[in-house]
Amino acid sequence: MEQALLSLAYLSSSILFIMSLRGLSSQETSRRGNTYGIVGMIVAVAALATSTGVGGYAVLLPALSVGGFIGYAMASRVAMTAMPEMVALLHSFVGAAAVLVGYASYLDSEMHDGGVVFLVEVFIDVFIGALTFTGSVVAFLKLRGQVSGRPLLLPGRHAFNLALVGGAVAMGVIYASAPGSEGLVELAIMTGLAGVLGWHLVMAIGGADMPVVVSMLNSYSGWTASAAGFMLGNDLLIITGALVGSSGAILSYIMCKAMNRSIWSVIFGGFGAAPKKAATGVAPEGEVAEIEASETAALLEHAKSVVIVPGYGMAVARAQHAVHDLTTLLRDRGTKVRFGIHPVAGRLPGHMNVLLAEADVPYDIVLEMDEINDDLPTTDVVLVIGANDIVNPGALTDESSPIYGMPVLEVWKAARVIVFKRSRGTGYAGVDNPLFYYANAALLLGDARASMDKLVAALKGQVVT
Ligand code: NDP
Repeated sequence: MEQALLSLAYLSSSILFIMSLRGLSSQETSRRGNTYGIVGMIVAVAALATSTGVGGYAVLLPALSVGGFIGYAMASRVAMTAMPEMVALLHSFVGAAAVLVGYASYLDSEMHDGGVVFLVEVFIDVFIGALTFTGSVVAFLKLRGQVSGRPLLLPGRHAFNLALVGGAVAMGVIYASAPGSEGLVELAIMTGLAGVLGWHLVMAIGGADMPVVVSMLNSYSGWTASAAGFMLGNDLLIITGALVGSSGAILSYIMCKAMNRSIWSVIFGGFGAAPKKAATGVAPEGEVAEIEASETAALLEHAKSVVIVPGYGMAVARAQHAVHDLTTLLRDRGTKVRFGIHPVAGRLPGHMNVLLAEADVPYDIVLEMDEINDDLPTTDVVLVIGANDIVNPGALTDESSPIYGMPVLEVWKAARVIVFKRSRGTGYAGVDNPLFYYANAALLLGDARASMDKLVAALKGQVVT
């Protein structure tokens, strides 16, 4: 493909990616946005693969086919609950690819012009790529539960991080002054230091801050791609990388604001992650009440206003369709039903919105935490479906809690709160929930889907009689 045509294709892809981001910003247009993104990517890959100067089809075509097949198989099989892990894993691929492209460019005598700009581009590309790779692998393992979600707070960890950055820069100076490709050893040491930094930064992040880290790593992967674009002289990679980098950074900022965290503390790996007070280790006192589905149905029969707060457990139990049935049933009876969505509910930004949209719950009754919190004191019944950390009153009162300072849905202010879960166990952040001990709260124990089905059946029975 000629240069002019290639530029045109790149321009079209860039516009499609921008339209894709625009579309993804609201639920109504998100499918269209996704389609724009897919078309943009197909145009970009096809244009690059057929452009002049690209040869080696014996390697390129099998690589594209195998990679495309693996990606398709992974994405079509992944459960909604495992989506964050997959996203983290994909970010690690971007990081690994950037490191490999950086090394390949450095060793390629045709690309390596010895100029300082080129060497800096390689350095930045490899540095962010290695950091993104190891950070994303740790995030993947933490989200999968194979590495503890608790923050690793080494003594002097900030000095350690600074030493790693200092060491990498020092290696960078030696590498940049070496002739030809003779700075390879320094480049390798720098890669190792950046890898340790990525590992340490994410290990230091505690449970409830993980969502921000996943979106920060998304942003880093974008900047890595952008750096690779400068190195390879590929405009599309620069633009796409910048789109991913900046949208990831904006999302991280929005999530930090919603969780009352400083973005810098997340970037610098658990800065201030230690609780202000030592944990007292005192479990909440009092009785935990339990309730049956039939009793819950009786409560709902008399309720005028109901708020449903879904969390990770709704995704695990795949209870969204049963929740939709309950919503329809109650609305048909004239009950006011609304949903309260916490910004970090579930394991993925927007996780609950996606599930509720899949179950055809009308968008206009799905409200953000800030929109619903003021109405909770006048709500008759709140149904908490498999949520825990996001309704923990300790986040507002207990300075020793790792989630202290995170705004939560203040469900205990409603007349009654029914929590659907399987046990008295903790949520992602691993902290006890005093809500269960409140006099107006009761646990409806069991799998959320099974409990919801029983509740719907009981309500239908009562409607009939
Ligand atoms: P939590 O992890 O706090 O609580 C989920 C609850 O669901 C558990 O206590 C569990 O209790 C219950 N549960 C699990 N399976 C079932 C089931 N089949 N039926 C009924 N209940 C079930 O989830 P939240 O949504 O309240 O909070 C999200 C947490 O995840 C926050 O700490 C957030 O920071 C973190 N996080 C969020 C991300 C995001 O982007 N949204 C990404 C990474 C982490 P039991 O075992 O007793 O059933």
